[in-house]
Amino acid sequence: MRRKVSIFGSTGSIGCNTVDLLLRQGGAEAYDVKVVTGARNVKLLAEQAVSLKADVAVTADISLLDALTEALKNTGVEAAAGPAALRDAAKVKVDWAMSAIVGSAGLTPTLEMAKHADILALANKESLVCAGELIKATCASSGCILVPVDSEHCAIYQALAGGKNADLSRIILTASGGPFRDWSLDQMAAATLKQAMAHPNWDMGQRISIDSATMFNKALEVIEAHQLFDVTADQIEVVVHPQSIVHSMIEYNDYSVIAQLAAPDMRGAIGFALNWPERPPLPVEQLNFGTLSRLDFASPDEARFPALRLARRVLELGGLAGAVFNAAKEAALDRFIAGDIGFLDMAQLVETVLENLHVKASQSSSLEGLETVMSIDKEARLMGQNWMPA
Ligand code: NDP
Repeated sequence: MRRKVSIFGSTGSIGCNTVDLLLRQGGAEAYDVKVVTGARNVKLLAEQAVSLKADVAVTADISLLDALTEALKNTGVEAAAGPAALRDAAKVKVDWAMSAIVGSAGLTPTLEMAKHADILALANKESLVCAGELIKATCASSGCILVPVDSEHCAIYQALAGGKNADLSRIILTASGGPFRDWSLDQMAAATLKQAMAHPNWDMGQRISIDSATMFNKALEVIEAHQLFDVTADQIEVVVHPQSIVHSMIEYNDYSVIAQLAAPDMRGAIGFALNWPERPPLPVEQLNFGTLSRLDFASPDEARFPALRLARRVLELGGLAGAVFNAAKEAALDRFIAGDIGFLDMAQLVETVLENLHVKASQSSSLEGLETVMSIDKEARLMGQNWMPA
């Protein structure tokens, strides 16, 4: 019987890689594709829906419904649009769902996927950062299995296969260091959008690429690791590893360290999640240890990358501090992309918003419901939009 699958955020970087793997693994003959979703790129969304013979294609942008309907005319694929349609599409029962919408826009559909999918392949780390307790509680009650797609967390998940979370002494998250790994603070202060988007190792969406340059992406991953593997801030170490070959490591109480290595290609982690618990061959480069001459590791410089310190502050505060942090970070990113604030201003904005809302954030929990999460997200976002550099 064909596996029922849905892909949320199919037109993005993770989404396109997921579609590529599905097509290579038999496409519509092997998979009964229920839903594909995008936002602005309706042309690509329609092409994907047709090539995978999906039941429905949903654009999050309601103003693009006519364009999507036109692109899908006489194809047999239904067109839908808007947040409510996206949410309904996430309620369709499937064997496997990919959550790859970028940002907190992915939270509501991810929560529905956690209720209605047997396996949730989670790339949208923001869901866990904003509402980790709620997502985990939802999976626990529905029986949904969460398989991380973020390469670092997928690496830890794989490394943990032979052991128990309770025996972990440390998680070592690797970070490429991004394009500004060796830049001075003065150089970083003048960094342009184009420079911030030029990731040295990974080919990713615009927003996560800039988040890698500030190391806000790594900060989100620290919070994600805390949520996924039940480890404290003290047990999570970040190391800069410029080659991006070691995707992360775990250390047990006996100081034995287990690492997962692979070429830097997201199809490795996506393929792992898609095929779990099987491990068929994937279209990724095989490592050649004869030519791989060195693997370097160094401690990150938190004076240049304050996002890591802020992630620890989020874990110390608990509650909804992750939602505040993420919303402020998204507001800062929007403003940097718009040319409104400088590269280094982003961390200052996030720190100010986090400290302004820290009491309220630490006294609430995502278990109170999505409305509580969205309300503090809105407040933090607004504060971030109005923040002025000193
Ligand atoms: P992209 O920006 O490439 O793609 C984002 C996807 O979300 C697109 O399908 C986009 O549609 C859709 N989208 C954008 N805005 C909205 C919205 N408001 N509502 C609904 N859908 C929307 O992102 P990535 O693929 O890079 O990242 C996706 C997620 O995966 C993120 O959470 C990221 O942190 C995580 N991730 C990504 C990695 C990577 O290698 N790219 C690695 C690890 C994690 P459209 O393009 O049609 O506008």
